[in-house]
Amino acid sequence: MGSTEQALSAEQRREALKQVFAQAQRCVRCQELAVTRNSVVFGAGNADADLMFVGEAPGASEDEQGLPFVGRAGKLLDTLLEEIGLARKDVFIANTLKCRPPGNRDPLPVELDNCREYLDRQVELIQPRVICSLGNFATKLLRADPAGITRVHGRAEQLTLGARTVRLYPVFHPAAALRTPRMLETLREDFGRLPELLALPEPPQPHEWEQPPEPDLEPGSEQGFAAQAATADQLDLF
Ligand code: URA
Repeated sequence: MGSTEQALSAEQRREALKQVFAQAQRCVRCQELAVTRNSVVFGAGNADADLMFVGEAPGASEDEQGLPFVGRAGKLLDTLLEEIGLARKDVFIANTLKCRPPGNRDPLPVELDNCREYLDRQVELIQPRVICSLGNFATKLLRADPAGITRVHGRAEQLTLGARTVRLYPVFHPAAALRTPRMLETLREDFGRLPELLALPEPPQPHEWEQPPEPDLEPGSEQGFAAQAATADQLDLF
């Protein structure tokens, strides 16, 4: 499907994103997360954004409200966006995991794996130019490299995710910056370079024949779990 997405209108891509959202809402790939979650936090914002953020996983507030970054770290993210002349409605905010790990434990490798297709589909459909990975988990996952955020923050690199080539720009996680004033300073400086990055031309996209086959997003067995219906107001998130 990757190659056809290039040709879809923004409205068609948004509609396709809603379908992926509906699939994610029924997802039971991670049994523990599926039974403990209150909501699937798919992501929110502009479905045609040039800038996408990828955090780690929903916390308690996000799980309650069904929206990403609504706690203290989210407030900081709002402030940092405002400082570069952007608002949530201009960007798309997602996470590596769409469900809250119980007790805010770290995401497990198998969970990151299970959830990866949703993230790749989001990237393919939103078609951002720049993806800003927030903190270690998102950065290591997207770069497919164990190098930590302290080493790689503030440096953009071209990367192909799913069928989309983007500029990946790792920065510190806002929650970590709330705990360490020096980190907050660095995060603010790194954010300051985002407008420049966004002004660059779109990176060359992979050729049609290089694009991966369409992923099968249908979850495996849904037995034993009630499929959640996508409610109208949730579909208005983006
Ligand atoms: N931290 C994250 O990484 N994601 C959220 O959505 C909230 C806090």
